[in-house]
Amino acid sequence: MKIIAYETRQDEEDYFVEVGERLGVEIIYTKEALNEETIELSKGCNGVTILGHSKINSAILDKLKEFHINYISTRTIGYNHIDIDYAKEVGVKVCNSGYEPNGVADFTIMLMLMSIRHYKQAMFRGNVNDYSLAGLRGREMKDLTVGVLGSGRIGSAVIENLQGFGCKVLVYDAFPNDKVREKAIYVDLDTLYAESDVITLHTPLLKDTYHMIDKKSIDKMKDGVVLINCARGELMDVEDVIEGIETEKIGALGLDVIENEEGIYHQDRRSDILTNRQMAYLRQFPNVTMTQHMAFYTDAAVKSMVNCGIESLYSLFTEGTTKYEIK
Ligand code: NAD
Repeated sequence: MKIIAYETRQDEEDYFVEVGERLGVEIIYTKEALNEETIELSKGCNGVTILGHSKINSAILDKLKEFHINYISTRTIGYNHIDIDYAKEVGVKVCNSGYEPNGVADFTIMLMLMSIRHYKQAMFRGNVNDYSLAGLRGREMKDLTVGVLGSGRIGSAVIENLQGFGCKVLVYDAFPNDKVREKAIYVDLDTLYAESDVITLHTPLLKDTYHMIDKKSIDKMKDGVVLINCARGELMDVEDVIEGIETEKIGALGLDVIENEEGIYHQDRRSDILTNRQMAYLRQFPNVTMTQHMAFYTDAAVKSMVNCGIESLYSLFTEGTTKYEIK
């Protein structure tokens, strides 16, 4: 079997070599994303593995079919960058990655703590020998109600992590989970918005979750609400979120993701003129902490993303099935 791995990073290399040797699979590598210019590289391969910057639309899927490539794995959990419906239509099987949710869940708690303890400001002040306390008085987790939107793998792990803090935990999901029910209280969405001091998003990006955090939903929230997003940028309407910060309706934001992050995040753009005004404007607020879509990025997750990406293509090729197939 021959696989092409797109968007490879140096820290993935050892894991690719190990899994390739173990399964007897030939792997070719490129740092580039899979797009209309780089698709020729996949000729002669049986499967492709990608990360989130490869936009798999109908034109790409048609071309893959033309090259007799029937299997794609994304080494990410989210798969909103792939036209799944069209892939099904043309018979390309797609699978995602199944790495453990702990890395993202831990990062979510870190952003919550940084937000409620004003750590961004404290760190900036320390860098210029300003050790004053004014404006840095925080809140304690035990006094807060945390609302978790989505109780899937990551949302459940966040709820597990929250157990030690003594906070009240509310959760909303269309598909409640009995294990989660032992640790958090399922409520309807409006109750979660109205009663939570901190709201953290863990739903996938779907048609009905696109811009779910907008002026209408923000208006339903408590004054000074803290919002955390370690899921997908498109869950939030950035203009409405900016208005929420300006009017102080939103007390703090912790964002690992932001709409239109592609082409900026995961790259060194220090010397470039960046044109994403919303990102630049949001970043300058003292109560907005932004990271470069790195919540997933742990040693355990990278290993598992690579293994999963190759092993699932191998299973599809040899057995026609994998538990990670998106159906
Ligand atoms: P999951 O599929 O296990 O859980 C998602 C949950 O959201 C499900 O329980 C589902 O019922 C629920 N849901 C769907 N629509 C909803 C809605 N409208 N309202 C409330 N709940 C809804 O997924 P997961 O593994 O927990 O991952 C969640 C998301 O996190 C991924 O889709 C991905 O976009 C994002 N993610 C981000 C990073 C990062 O590095 N920042 C890493 C991994 C995943």
